Amino acid sequence: MAEVHGVSPLTGRTEPWMEDLLADADACAALVAEYGSPVNVLDFGPLARNAAELVDAAASEGVRLGVFVARKANKALGLVHAAREAGLGVDVASLAELTQSLDAGMPGERVIVTAAVKSRALLEAAVRAGATVSLDNADELADVVAVAASVGARARVALRLASSDPAIPPTRFGMASRQWDSALASARLTDVSIEGIHFHLNAYSAEERAAVLREALPWADALREAGHDVGFIDIGGGIPMSYLEDRAQWRAFWERLAQDAHGTLTWRGDRLGLTDPSASRPSPSVYPYWQRKVRGPWMLDVLRAHGLERRTLAEEIAARGLELRCEPGRSVLDGCGLTLASVAFRKATSDGIPLVGLHMNRTQVRSTSADFMVDPRWVRPSGAGEASPAFDGFLVGAYCVEDELILRRRLRFPDGVARGDIAAFVNTGGYLMHILESASHQLPLAATVVREGGDWVRDGIDGAVGAEDYRSA
Ligand SMILES: *Cc1c(COP(=O)(O)O)cnc(C)c1O
Repeated sequence: MAEVHGVSPLTGRTEPWMEDLLADADACAALVAEYGSPVNVLDFGPLARNAAELVDAAASEGVRLGVFVARKANKALGLVHAAREAGLGVDVASLAELTQSLDAGMPGERVIVTAAVKSRALLEAAVRAGATVSLDNADELADVVAVAASVGARARVALRLASSDPAIPPTRFGMASRQWDSALASARLTDVSIEGIHFHLNAYSAEERAAVLREALPWADALREAGHDVGFIDIGGGIPMSYLEDRAQWRAFWERLAQDAHGTLTWRGDRLGLTDPSASRPSPSVYPYWQRKVRGPWMLDVLRAHGLERRTLAEEIAARGLELRCEPGRSVLDGCGLTLASVAFRKATSDGIPLVGLHMNRTQVRSTSADFMVDPRWVRPSGAGEASPAFDGFLVGAYCVEDELILRRRLRFPDGVARGDIAAFVNTGGYLMHILESASHQLPLAATVVREGGDWVRDGIDGAVGAEDYRSA
């Protein structure tokens, strides 16, 4: 394996399966040769362990936790299979995600539909399958009432709560409890069961989840008094994870960027969304790649927060016999994926900045974060060409866009770069490989392969009945 790291290093956490694969350079080369570059490589082994960390933390506080994996974080059908086998549910955001999940054997009762906009076809499929629909607004409630009547089955729904707490940022999703109460009062609910309360907040604050739980609990009591059989509160996703082992590297990067007057760290001095030039804290436009409390310890912070009276939130939830639910995407996919891309060329810009061209484009390792702040690993297969001398430079990709970089941080290549080398982006399973991928320029989407036993096999999502096939529905 050859060396590479950021000029200010950000070393990624890995799993043993990743190290085994990266240590076998010719196996990496064989995957790229067979499936093209880039290739997304998934091993869902860590999923059950990650979810169990959440479930065990809740159980230690006397709370029953249901985990519904947010499918939008990774499109592979292998994720649905792994979730099913681990006894978890899924959170789906479209008709295709719902239908594929049911076809993959996920029981309807273990599905929640949180799509931001819901077609009639999606609502019909959800009601038929006995999936829970998270309702966003009064028009959607009317649609569900009509669908339940026409399908002749009960609709199981959760009400999406938009917090009225001034400490919680405003949201376009859900409605205030008062608005829901009046919408329910004028609806014909004979075929609709209100089974839970749902919310999903931006960012990763345990304190904010605790605050909205304190708002949801008395509303659950009121809904029960009004005759609804409310059984759960779902706190959505946004459970934190860390991509980096070392907090010192994370802090050092931002301290150096704050003082980086000559643009040595990033592409042409990119501030990565930092507006205050002297601030040495992380940019709000970048995912917090290092976080103090993740998964289990974070869940304990939520549940040990004070409740309504003298009890903890955990005690309040348990005393009501409520199930707590969550919809983690990224944090349960921690350790499940990496992306391999082969080197196409080495060159420099017209003003002399060294570049490494990869057979990929930036949508293939990108989330909504301003950059993927994890150093790649570097694989040198036996068939690679002659390596260049050491240099510092940037990774670029296939779009005909001047500013298209794969990573916006400058990398150091002490062992140079050879044609045929492979860049390995580690821990891309949550969002990085799939949430923004595009077939622009008619470049095909990357293949997705999943570990099955000892083999890597093409995931069923490639070539599956997909979004286009549901367009008319
Ligand atoms: C995106 C989303 C999730 C998953 O969020 P993560 O940050 O990946 O945990 C869960 N629920 C809803 C409603 C979402 O929109």
